Amino acid sequence: FAPWTDPQAKPLIRFENVTKRFGDFTAVDDLSVDIYEREFFALLGPSGCGKTTMMRMLAGFETPTSGTIMLDGKDISPVPPNKRSVNMMFQSYALFPHLTVYDNIAFGLKRDKLPAEQIDARVKEMLRLVQIERFAQRKPDQISGGQRQRVALARSLAKAPKLLLLDEPLSALDKKLRQDTQFELMDIQEKTGTTFVIVTHDQEEAMTVASRVAVMNFGKLIQVDTPTQIYEAPNSAYVADFIGDVNIIEGNATVDGERVLISWAEGQPDIIGTPAQPVAPGRVSFVIRPEKIAISSEKPTDRRNAVHGKVLDIAYLGNMSTYHVEMPDGTVIKATAANQRRRDSLPYTWEDPVWLSWTDTAGVVLAE
Ligand code: ATP
Repeated sequence: FAPWTDPQAKPLIRFENVTKRFGDFTAVDDLSVDIYEREFFALLGPSGCGKTTMMRMLAGFETPTSGTIMLDGKDISPVPPNKRSVNMMFQSYALFPHLTVYDNIAFGLKRDKLPAEQIDARVKEMLRLVQIERFAQRKPDQISGGQRQRVALARSLAKAPKLLLLDEPLSALDKKLRQDTQFELMDIQEKTGTTFVIVTHDQEEAMTVASRVAVMNFGKLIQVDTPTQIYEAPNSAYVADFIGDVNIIEGNATVDGERVLISWAEGQPDIIGTPAQPVAPGRVSFVIRPEKIAISSEKPTDRRNAVHGKVLDIAYLGNMSTYHVEMPDGTVIKATAANQRRRDSLPYTWEDPVWLSWTDTAGVVLAE
């Protein structure tokens, strides 16, 4: 499933040079992106970067200052929110406290004056879909937070919208429930075939649920890609740093055929990198994940990238630890290593001299 790689595929949603200004503040800045049918698309970025504004424009609560948003090939700007095949599920769920679960889900269908049997069948289908048949006759304050979240989801899907917008849908749930619910959300999305666009602060959540992730900053899309590509091939130090733990080493590149040699600190051997995209000589960032770096007490003989330092800090993570290793010039490089079974027998300890090494293709070389 990768419609974005198919030049023939028609997007469900197209943002074409969309800008949204509030006074002289630009919340969304000349942004273009396509989102496809059946996609689970995540908007990820720091607070204030414009995620909610993008959603509100899709829902019709805000109008772009310039540019066009298309749904199914048609400009949706003249279409009022209630006439769009778009629904938005809010962080607060906004359930009606005086209505039962059943009536909450039936609400929109009744407003549309659908025949009673049709409403009943649809509500039951939704109750089954989110597995809350048992609670149909309870009120929202008689069920748990996780169950309320399901009711809100069922209500948002009852009218079978083409697009469901989810604004931080799981933020009210605790971590364990949140993780379980992520899988349920994916399952429900797959079963209904509805396109989901989710806003989240939580990078792990975006990486788990989404077919593609859009990383935003200051109203712009920095990278739109599959979770694997975002993680393995970030297009900028910003994206690399935003997703997961990373080392960013700045230096000067000289290009030697396929390889790039990066001089980064006095007295240190050059880093040898294989850039995914051609890199011009000059300032570059070398980006490498801690888990791509091996740590050893002996100098490795099979790798050209090997640096020597001493252990400064250790973050114990249970199954593994992240070692912060200080180079003679003061640069700190993080490397993870699997733990032995007991915490009191970590393979390395503070002040230990260690070697860090990695393969020529383990990192990403990015122009600055
Ligand atoms: P968060 O993760 O904190 O919800 P966000 O990425 O969703 O942030 P938006 O809500 O889209 O950010 O807001 C983007 C910027 O636009 C913010 O700086 C916000 O203050 C501003 N903004 C949003 N709505 C309005 C408005 N109605 N009037 C003025 N400024 C606004």
